[in-house]
Amino acid sequence: GPDAGAPAQPRILVLANQKGGVGKTTTAINLGTALAAIGEKVLILDLDPQGNASTGLGIDRKSRRVSTYHVLTGEASLESAITETVVPGLFVAPSTLDLLGVELEIASQRDRAHRLRNAIKALMGGDVTNPFTYILIDCPPSLNLLTINALTAADAVLVPLQCEFFALEGLSQLLKTVEQVRSALNPKLTIHGVVLTMFDPRNNLSGQVVADVRQFMGSKVYETMIPRNVRVSEAPSHGKPVLLYDLKCAGSQAYLRLASEIIQRERALRAA
Ligand code: ADP
Ligand code: MG
Repeated sequence: GPDAGAPAQPRILVLANQKGGVGKTTTAINLGTALAAIGEKVLILDLDPQGNASTGLGIDRKSRRVSTYHVLTGEASLESAITETVVPGLFVAPSTLDLLGVELEIASQRDRAHRLRNAIKALMGGDVTNPFTYILIDCPPSLNLLTINALTAADAVLVPLQCEFFALEGLSQLLKTVEQVRSALNPKLTIHGVVLTMFDPRNNLSGQVVADVRQFMGSKVYETMIPRNVRVSEAPSHGKPVLLYDLKCAGSQAYLRLASEIIQRERALRAA
């Protein structure tokens, strides 16, 4: 096990898939909320210029004075970007549309892929009496420099896959990118797991996709599947995670199960 006297390090998980609309942001918000609900202290880093994770957590655009843009350009510390959310124990470093330009701004810097990692290191190096136990990074739908920064900073990747016909398409490209980042930038990077999203039991195709993904990715696929649930899609327009909007709905219950499955995997990893 880890050195009992060492300060606890947060587990840094990145939600990545270069396809849009597969449930990255929804999973960041609701997994983050579920982890906070069971006592973890969670920080979501919003690395998507669209800022949907920030909006879905009730952070309106006007109040995003310091964002992940300023963190990546070095104008501000990560600590100064961190904002409370409507969920106790869940914090967010919001994004703004400025992020669209950050790639060009830092492209010629030698540390361009390490900006986020260094910012997180500085956060953990400060006087932290009550440190984050999980950091979840929400990525844009692209394998660009923002996603590379996230993969370089992370311990492990969580891949949301939508239960639709083309689910596996693009997965090998993502796995290849993860492999490249592991060998060039971040040797400790692993695949934490694949989460199947928007599962519809009435749709035969959904069942077939689940079978294919489980065959291809084996035990990396979480037992928990997130069902397609209208409450999940309504919640962001209320600036709330679905767990605050409708705790009893199938989507909320699934995200609670996913959180406990992830914590179990973490325990098994630490015991090994
Ligand atoms: P990504 O971040 O990968 O682009 P999102 O999390 O934004 O994907 O999800 C895409 C769309 O699908 C959003 O409108 C979201 O509300 C909706 N959605 C995500 N998960 C579910 C779900 N389990 N049930 C119903 N709608 C969902
Ligand atoms: Mg998104």
